Amino acid sequence: TQFKDLGLAEPILKALAAKGYADPTPIQRQAIPALLEGRDLCGIAQTGTGKTAAFALPSLDYFSRHPKPRPLQGCRMLVLSPTRELAAQIAESFRTYGRFLRLSVETVFGGVPIGRQVNKLRAGVDVLVATPGRLLDLIDQRALSLRDVEIFVLDEADQMLDLGFIHALKRIEKLLPARRQNLFFSATMPKTIADLGDRFLTDPVKVAV
Ligand code: AMP
Repeated sequence: TQFKDLGLAEPILKALAAKGYADPTPIQRQAIPALLEGRDLCGIAQTGTGKTAAFALPSLDYFSRHPKPRPLQGCRMLVLSPTRELAAQIAESFRTYGRFLRLSVETVFGGVPIGRQVNKLRAGVDVLVATPGRLLDLIDQRALSLRDVEIFVLDEADQMLDLGFIHALKRIEKLLPARRQNLFFSATMPKTIADLGDRFLTDPVKVAV
């Protein structure tokens, strides 16, 4: 299987070709068709497996086929990352794979002044990559609402729990609209993490690489 056999939109295939990527990695091969159908996904995968593209490519495909008038409200896709470094990498991937689409991608994370982040969110964004604490700060300041989230990704769930984000994640879950697509990734899946996944996921496709 090659990317062009997966049914991804032309601008995305063009961005992949420009990157020199022709063949999907195992997690991409397993996840992309299910995600294009709108299914929820629970993935056991480490960094380095290509999991970022596994969730970025089908989401970008969805946005390319379902554009929304500007300005947007809040964000259409929320990706939660445990660290700012990972958040920045994820946003970079979306920008790379989405370079031939008209699409806004922003990151918000703690440890830097919040004012600029409030401004970045004012006109809404397509894809928001956030750490949980700063996301809640922005919501509490009424700088952001999650009511228009169509796709939700929780990345590195095991790290999230290690870093003490469990209460933040439960709060965020309550603020998400009921109707949405959910993607949940963790390098390991002991019961505590699987239970966390159950809070977010509906009848997920399960992928392990
Ligand atoms: P990730 O697991 O998402 O951190 O990705 C690991 C690395 O693999 C990143 O540098 C990606 O750019 C690269 N990558 C992702 N998908 C592919 C692919 N299909 N072919 C070659 N490299 C890829």
